Amino acid sequence: MTEDLKVRFLRLAIIEQKKYDEIGEILKITKKDISRYWEDLKEEREHLSNIRKIWKVKYNNPETTETFWDFKKWYDSVERKCYYCGITETEIEQLWKKEQTKNKALTERNRGKKLEIERLSPKEPYHKIDNLVLSCYWCNNAKTDTFTAEEFKEIGETIGKIWKKRLTE
Ligand SMILES: [Zn+2]
Repeated sequence: MTEDLKVRFLRLAIIEQKKYDEIGEILKITKKDISRYWEDLKEEREHLSNIRKIWKVKYNNPETTETFWDFKKWYDSVERKCYYCGITETEIEQLWKKEQTKNKALTERNRGKKLEIERLSPKEPYHKIDNLVLSCYWCNNAKTDTFTAEEFKEIGETIGKIWKKRLTE
């Protein structure tokens, strides 16, 4: 399987969610090939599917594939830490384990364990990639659209100090 075929296959199967017959017709491959690709590309499929889910929540229009690929490129390359307080996804996990961030409401809503996608300027749409950063739930929740990104960076520094303290306790 060439790299080009791999990308086209994943795009049709995961992003555009085409049926086997259509994929076969477009790529001129047999059903047997498709089954094999499906198996061989399990890891890539799951990774892509995951990003598509995040994308869908924010854009509700996964068919705009061009911006999806820009989004994916950004998401794959961005450092996994909160833009404001600097906490990393691994540190968030540690804090949850130490029960330092446990919060019943959060557990019920399944929030807080992962970094969230945040817009530096909430007036800009999500497809403006250079406006996107990752933020922890607490910074994202507190910033709202009351504080500017610059203003909240100062608050984030203090939150970051508290996390560091809790991580070493
Ligand atoms: Zn934060």
